[in-house]
Amino acid sequence: MGQAKRRKEAGDRVSHCRTCTYCCVLPQIEAPCVHIADGGCSIHGRPERPSACSAYACAYLTARLANAPERNRIPHPLDCGAYFHRDPVEKVIFVFVDPARPFLWKASALLVDFLRLQVGAGFVLFITDRGRQMVIRDPGTFSEVLARDFVALADREGRPLDVPSFRETGATPPA
Ligand code: SF4
Ligand code: SF4
Repeated sequence: MGQAKRRKEAGDRVSHCRTCTYCCVLPQIEAPCVHIADGGCSIHGRPERPSACSAYACAYLTARLANAPERNRIPHPLDCGAYFHRDPVEKVIFVFVDPARPFLWKASALLVDFLRLQVGAGFVLFITDRGRQMVIRDPGTFSEVLARDFVALADREGRPLDVPSFRETGATPPA
């Protein structure tokens, strides 16, 4: 979030986050944050924001703020239905899938290509999708996750959720 989330109101400069509030549901923020309001954050830029909020920036925002070379290879979270960040120490990338649009990220060629490249470069992906967590360590597993809905499979098997707060009912697979 950093300078991030903001209301898209007349007179406000629209930030890189646009109206995204995905990371306002981080577990460290007693999710979901009580300051989420129509069009973004109701206390944008104010010091009373939770510290986890001020400290956080997803990979998209980080790349934009740093004007990094990869900035155009990472889609906006609202456009791909997911956001992610790199662990500051380990070669790990944490991906969070929008539970209301859980199939969108797999259709984002930009995001899939970017993540596949990262896996090929030795990064481990921790994906949180509809309350379930998957660990991807190699390109073959990544392709399997893209091709199959393992969340639905786990649901059918009645397995308990890993992160119940990242769950929303009503999402259906694309035809
Ligand atoms: S997920 Fe990224 S783009 Fe969305 S609000 Fe958080 S920092 Fe901004
Ligand atoms: S204060 Fe809450 S709603 Fe506002 S950006 Fe931070 S986490 Fe999101």
